[in-house]
Amino acid sequence: MTRVIDFHTHPYRPADLTPAMWQFVRETSPTVREHGDRLVDPHYFADLLRAQGVEHAVVLPEHCPQTSGTVRTETVIEWCAAEPDFLIPFASVDINSDPDAAALLEGYLDTAPIRGLKLYPSYQFYYPNDPRLYPIYDICQTARIPVLLHIGSSVIPGTRIKYCDPVCLDDVAVDFPDLTVVMAHGGRGFWYDVCAFLALHKPNFYIDVSGLVPASLRAHYPDLDRLAHKMVFGSDWPAMPKSVAANIAAIGALQLPQHPLEDLLFGNAARMLGL
Ligand SMILES: [Zn+2]
Repeated sequence: MTRVIDFHTHPYRPADLTPAMWQFVRETSPTVREHGDRLVDPHYFADLLRAQGVEHAVVLPEHCPQTSGTVRTETVIEWCAAEPDFLIPFASVDINSDPDAAALLEGYLDTAPIRGLKLYPSYQFYYPNDPRLYPIYDICQTARIPVLLHIGSSVIPGTRIKYCDPVCLDDVAVDFPDLTVVMAHGGRGFWYDVCAFLALHKPNFYIDVSGLVPASLRAHYPDLDRLAHKMVFGSDWPAMPKSVAANIAAIGALQLPQHPLEDLLFGNAARMLGL
């Protein structure tokens, strides 16, 4: 039985989401329809993930007031503190609505066990190589924490997908050679080839497979056997159409070589998170 870290989950916070985002989550997620408000309890949330074979789960805030909602970092810190050995908090800041996003991030890192930063270019409206992000990348590089960016399509109204263009991340690779960058959704819809190129050729670049149908990974990435060791497993749970366990099983069925498979499901994430 392979060990699994889920690098991409969201807390259940209906009141913090925009109506469109909450509708999307409800329609997408059998877990939300089945368990409903019991998911508010972090212990309940963690137990459901443990039962599906997950050993640790990254929990992502989502401060995107113009599109999807305002699940703030403070909320996620408090929530993860209830299950400190299992739930791993990331931070979320927004250079367009936080007056000093870099200072805010530093404050989070100084006061809480934050293990990474999530950025949402298409929900927050900036390109990944926006100069205003550079102080933030600098903080993350110095603190040795990964930056996870939403890179791919989205159906939430108001989203501006152009901002996710992964070619912009090439600048980040050049200017922050020691920064770990994880491309969530791997360029879903338009940019699989660019994301695969970056992951294969930039030592600190990875693809998080959340939001992709596992059985389609070979179609999206023809070089999957070589690429898998630069991937991390994420589910986007609970906003996903199947269970986490089903996605883990589907990845197991891809018949990847054993070492890349272990890197994808556990090893890469464990190294990035310092576990
Ligand atoms: Zn997500």
